Amino acid sequence: MIVAMNKIYLDYNATALIRPEVLTLVTHVMGEVGNASSVHGAGRHARKYVEDARQQVADLCAVTAEQVTFTSGATESINTVLSGYRDKRVLISSIEHPATMAAAPHADLIPVTTDGLVDMEAYKKLLAEDSSPALISVMLVNSETGVIQPIAEMAKLAHDSGALFHTDAVQAAGRMDISLNKLGVDYISLSAHKMSGPQGVGAIITRDGLELPKFMLGGGQEKNCRAGTHNTAGIAGMGLAAELALKNIPHYAEIQKLRDHMEAEMHKISNKITIYGQNAPRVGNTCNIGIKDMPAQTQMMALDLDGIAVSSGSACSSGSFKPSHVLTAMGANEEDAKSALRISMGWATTSADIDAFLESWKKIAQRVK
Ligand code: PLP
Repeated sequence: MIVAMNKIYLDYNATALIRPEVLTLVTHVMGEVGNASSVHGAGRHARKYVEDARQQVADLCAVTAEQVTFTSGATESINTVLSGYRDKRVLISSIEHPATMAAAPHADLIPVTTDGLVDMEAYKKLLAEDSSPALISVMLVNSETGVIQPIAEMAKLAHDSGALFHTDAVQAAGRMDISLNKLGVDYISLSAHKMSGPQGVGAIITRDGLELPKFMLGGGQEKNCRAGTHNTAGIAGMGLAAELALKNIPHYAEIQKLRDHMEAEMHKISNKITIYGQNAPRVGNTCNIGIKDMPAQTQMMALDLDGIAVSSGSACSSGSFKPSHVLTAMGANEEDAKSALRISMGWATTSADIDAFLESWKKIAQRVK
């Protein structure tokens, strides 16, 4: 019922399969009437969904409910935070999501190593330059490779030099601990649909006592911080998704076993593969694999014919057939970057899915001379 076109869905980093409990709740709330800002009973009823969800999202980041602001998704969350720094010096990594790249076109780029980790020496040099930065924005987990950045260490260095730190934790939520205090950051951006909630809803977590730049102007929703009628059903769904994501973090050890088994089998099938970020800490659900001289588009089409959904590069740029800026920043040449495939798993992935993927991919790999 849930998977419409592909029998086997291995593209959770593009959007994760919604959990059935979340789907039931969102559908139920959509059938009710009430603006969460209205004072009558229907409004108060809607408000309760929003406030319960605020607590659930707060628990995911180990903060208080007051520190959570709901948005229309991580793109808006990121734009909101960065909008406060348009005329100030900003540092971002060279492998950020296009939302960060576009919201901070003036930013200085922190290079990454061939493993996909931020180059800490280059970062320290950028921090030490005469005009010190006001904000650093670096993603916790890369959407294409799954590589986990040393955010706590980076945030400490940023604070020592007087800058604030924002992290895009979209691909980390539900896959690892994202407690704000453990990360030591000032702002976190989140998206519901990457943690098996609905699309079109997200949040910003703000360190206690810190103001959020005003980005969406209009009504006084979200304590005058983010105007616009609450997406009550979406927010309720995000809350439940966050609660389930937190509970299910241990399940990622099982998903990692599937991923590691899949990578080991791919190595046995072909000696022409590169697994990007394999030597760095990675979340357990993501594999980014290049096979020489076999364009990702050809691989994706062949897999699609077998009913298997995977992705090449990041979802936002697929269709444009450009090499991934993440892989080229990691030193891959354009041809190699164009033959990289992203396989990403989630709560519903089974070992039978991985076996079917391997069976299909083997036929492709055998076509490479
Ligand atoms: N940041 C990362 C790392 C992502 O993977 C995505 C989604 O592709 C976004 C931000 C944007 O999130 P949203 O779809 O909620 O706008």
